[in-house]
Amino acid sequence: MKLWFLTGSQGLYGEDTLRQVAEQSQEIAGALGRGLPFEVVWKPVLTDAAAIRRVCLEASGDDECAGVIAWMHTFSPAKMWIAGLDALRKPLLHLHTQANVALPWSSIDMDFMNLNQAAHGDREFGYIQTRLGVPRKTVAGHVSDPAVVERIATWARAAAGRAELSSLRLARFGDNMRDVAVTEGDKVEAQLRFGVSVNTYGVNDLVDAVDAVPDSDVTALVKEYEETYQVAAELRAGGDRHDSLRYAARIEAGLRGFLTDGGFKAFTTNFEDLGGLRQLPGLAVQRLMADGYGFGGEGDWKTSVLLRTLKVVGEGLPGGTSFMEDYTYHLVPGEEAILGAHMLEVCPSIAAGTPSCEIHPLSIGGREDPVRLVFDARPGPAVVVGLADMGERFRLVANEIDVVPPAEPLPRLPVARAVWKPRPDLRTSAESWLTAGAPHHTVLSAAVGAEELTDLADMLGVELVVIDAATTSRQFTKELRWNQAYYRLAQGL
Ligand code: MN
Repeated sequence: MKLWFLTGSQGLYGEDTLRQVAEQSQEIAGALGRGLPFEVVWKPVLTDAAAIRRVCLEASGDDECAGVIAWMHTFSPAKMWIAGLDALRKPLLHLHTQANVALPWSSIDMDFMNLNQAAHGDREFGYIQTRLGVPRKTVAGHVSDPAVVERIATWARAAAGRAELSSLRLARFGDNMRDVAVTEGDKVEAQLRFGVSVNTYGVNDLVDAVDAVPDSDVTALVKEYEETYQVAAELRAGGDRHDSLRYAARIEAGLRGFLTDGGFKAFTTNFEDLGGLRQLPGLAVQRLMADGYGFGGEGDWKTSVLLRTLKVVGEGLPGGTSFMEDYTYHLVPGEEAILGAHMLEVCPSIAAGTPSCEIHPLSIGGREDPVRLVFDARPGPAVVVGLADMGERFRLVANEIDVVPPAEPLPRLPVARAVWKPRPDLRTSAESWLTAGAPHHTVLSAAVGAEELTDLADMLGVELVVIDAATTSRQFTKELRWNQAYYRLAQGL
């Protein structure tokens, strides 16, 4: 993924000034390139409408270009930008900066003033973006300030997530869990809004792939499990239930092959519809998530899409990202916390230690006992995010949380889990979450934060409400009401 760096100016200044503009903007682009997780491609200084339109069309058509950064080094009369901005189909960041940090008080003259006038050149650019209704992120400050680079990096990561989403393919094995409302959604609208293509396959297509896995591949995977996890004695070679571990490995190899062959980076399963599968996929799903795949249980393709997207946004950052479900509460006054888990499918990227690989009965589904990884989530700040279909549009809801160690060991709980304290407190968090109609399935991420989510939502034109330390139920309820009106107006008829 690459970011394009555009510099605006005009012909009026003459060749000498434009040469300096080019040199200085290359320095700024170079400094950004060293600080950002993506390559920054400097483009020649833009001085007329035709060149601006051309570069915006090229950026829009280039699959490698994740987003465009624009800076008006000098004054670039903004009518020149109308056709280009109107044609631009990539995320835009308006960098409001200048070449120098300090003013050269004793030597400043009109030549310096003419060369360094982003202070008003960028205001002209801000006007035309707002006048045209161009969504963008605006970042002000000098690029030598790490906070400036970090805010641009945040936007760039969100742009990478958006790029992934625009070509994502998701495979569903079976439909949604019967009668469940919140996991449903409009797949046509999702493809239009996000780009993701969501299609269902018969579970027995997967079973065929699982059954066709060669024994030697199963053996190799089992060896990898034994080296990577604390595998229970009964599952190890020679143990009573070693065959169950071998079948879990067979599911992983078959599922991985199916996804690879079809170009899928996200999938769903449904415990109600397992066809000829002998176990509900647990270990396989956990390991695929750890490798960056999106997943949602009970046919929940929206959460699977969100998980894959946030895996890409968080790539290279410390902290993992997992499928999650709000499960049960600790309501002791002063100690309030949420215990999150799923039947099996929590991603080991959020594990505090080495997961243990175990086999236990699953009280629903009516199949053989499934193999799974069991662990506690690593304590620290994180966020949970849910995606709901409100009928005429999608809504993202996020809650900043603090993952904490369980108050006591959980020796009888045979699934991976996370315990967290939601901000600002459990009551405000839960009341706000419920008022927003947000789902019980979420993505929990210790890598991605509210700013990435905000940038991503802005790029997608999707509503995002954030519940954080400053949230009050009263203000949050109002925000939802205002958003309801805004998003209906913003999307037109
Ligand atoms: Mn569930």
